[in-house]
Amino acid sequence: MNDCLFCKIVNNEIPSQKIFENEKILAFLDINPINPGHVLIVPKKHCNGLLDAGEENLNALIQPVPIIAKAIMSALDYEGFNLGVNNGSAAGQIVPHLHFHIMPRRAGDGHHLFHGAPYQLGEIEKVAEKIRQQLT
Ligand code: 5GP
Ligand code: ZN
Repeated sequence: MNDCLFCKIVNNEIPSQKIFENEKILAFLDINPINPGHVLIVPKKHCNGLLDAGEENLNALIQPVPIIAKAIMSALDYEGFNLGVNNGSAAGQIVPHLHFHIMPRRAGDGHHLFHGAPYQLGEIEKVAEKIRQQLT
């Protein structure tokens, strides 16, 4: 039995406000939005996150992002959007079925996503080198 919440939404076992779907993906409204119109896009074929998604799921998820984002902004008069993926529970992923968040934004709406603090002197070069070593 598949107990995955988003598989149940894909299979219509749990209701959702669907926005867009095709053979490979479903987009629906998040019930706890950052701002109204916050959309989740999920692959219909289950995967946990970005690392086990595979090329087909990834391509299918990214392709409709600009189309859906433009529709949200036009429909609800937004000025921009954030695209996000929480990958792993340490990163805040609650539902272990890969999903892209499209979070519509207006200037001054009070959200401050993805803004950190500067590196210490000399630290950025060391961090970059450690990551590059893993990629060679
Ligand atoms: P995560 O933290 O895993 O990236 O985000 C999961 C998202 O799913 C949350 O933003 C949460 O509000 C949303 N969510 C949780 N349960 C439901 C549900 O039953 N229906 C819908 N539409 N969204 C849900
Ligand atoms: Zn699933």
